[in-house]
Parts: sequence; structure tokens; C-alpha cells
Amino acid sequence: MKEVSEGLIYRDFITVGLLARKLAVREDDGTPLKDNWIYIQEPDVQVGRLQVFNNWSPGLVADPNKVWIGLEYFCNETDPLWKLSDDEMAQLAIREAARIGILNPEDVEDAHVVHVPKAYPAYFGSYDRFDVIRNYVDGFENLFLAGRNGMHKYNNQDHSMLTAMTAVENIVAGVTSKANIWAVNTETDYHEEKRQVA
Ligand SMILES: Cc1cc2nc3c(=O)[nH]c(=O)nc-3n(C[C@H](O)[C@H](O)[C@H](O)COP(=O)(O)OP(=O)(O)OC[C@H]3O[C@@H](n4cnc5c(N)ncnc54)[C@H](O)[C@@H]3O)c2cc1C
Repeated sequence: MKEVSEGLIYRDFITVGLLARKLAVREDDGTPLKDNWIYIQEPDVQVGRLQVFNNWSPGLVADPNKVWIGLEYFCNETDPLWKLSDDEMAQLAIREAARIGILNPEDVEDAHVVHVPKAYPAYFGSYDRFDVIRNYVDGFENLFLAGRNGMHKYNNQDHSMLTAMTAVENIVAGVTSKANIWAVNTETDYHEEKRQVA
């Protein structure tokens, strides 16, 4: 059991928020970029994805004339990238954003770096023997694992909440089986959708 649990693997994550006066890239009609997420394909940068935070909600930037973007680096804690200081990381993000034509460095007013260890539970390493862990922990009647790293499962927020709610319902009903909790997030459909807020 211990050998299997120690063999579980995660991907780690660094995000660099940049506050900019404006972006260098716009929609074809000249209006500000509408995307929330942009996956970066250029092979000569390390950044993997970009978010425009204020396109999720305008409330995420204090001055509506400015833009907060997040450059996302998928990495391992053992990578040289992880050891860069926050300032070095911010400078790298600014250089890379400029290189792919997203912004001009002189438009950047502020930067914020966040390291997220174990951000992504991975389905390799010893994951193919995960049933050893599941059988062991399921043996404890009053232990209900829930959430993302709690279950080593690539759960989104909704899945994570649902596992917690299901666990509570089981406890209230005196159900000791964990089968319905493990069954969350086994569907193959992806349920995220865009909704217009009135
Ligand atoms: C980069 C990134 C992007 C994501 N994007 C999305 C998205 O767009 N949409 C979406 O739905 N989901 C997204 N997710 C997934 C979502 O964040 C997770 O599914 C959700 O946060 C998992 O909830 P949780 O309660 O299991 O864990 P968490 O939210 O990680 O909560 C666990 C808590 O336990 C605390 N903790 C840990 N160890 C201990 C300890 N020993 N003692 C006490 N407290 C402890 C931690 O500090 C933390 O507060 C994203 C995740 C990442 C990393």
C-alpha cells in the first residue's frame, strides 16, 4: 500500500499574474481580446496556457481600462523553473508574453507569482495499482475521502463538491460504502459550459 501511494505522481504548477495597461493583441475588429483561456503552441516558450482573468469577470481587475493576465507553467517541483525567484519568474513571463506578441513589456505595471505544488494528480506512476489504496482506505468505515488530492483524481470544483456532498449524505444515512463517491467523475462527458449572466 505504502509503495503504491508513494508512487503516485503529480504535476506542479506556477502561475504568473501580470497587470498590464493593455495587451498587444486584439480581436480582428480591434476590440479587446474576448478569450478567457488561450493554449500556447509556440515551441520556443515554456508558458503552456494564458488566462485573461478579467474576461472571467470584470470584477477581477480594479481599473476596467487595464488587464490582468495569468501565464501558466506546467512543471515539476524538481525543475530549474521551480527554483527561480519570484522576480526572475515574473521577468521570464514578461519576456515570453512579449515574444509571442501578447504584450509589450513597458505596459506591465505589476506581477504576482504563485507556486502550486501537486496541482494535478497524474494517471501514471503507480496509478494503475490505485485499487490497492482504494481497498485499504475503504476498509475504514468512518473514513470518507473526497475532493481532488483526497482521492488522487482529476476532479474539477464541481466534482470535488459533489464527492463531499455525497460523503455527507452517506454519513447521515449510515451508508459505509464509498462506491458512490468513487463513482463521481467517471463519466466521459465534459460539463463546463458558457452561460450568459443577466
Ligand atoms: C491550475 C488549476 C486550475 C484549475 N481550474 C479549474 C477550473 O477552471 N474549473 C474547475 O472546476 N476546477 C479547476 N481546478 C480544480 C479545482 O481547483 C479543484 O478541483 C478543487 O479546488 C479541489 O477541491 P478540494 O477541496 O479537493 O481541494 P483544495 O481546494 O485543494 O482544498 C484542500 C484544502 O486542504 C488544505 N490542506 C491540505 N493539507 C492539509 C492538512 N494537512 N491540514 C489541513 N488542511 C490541509 C489545503 O490548504 C486546501 O485549502 C483547477 C485546479 C488548478 C490547480
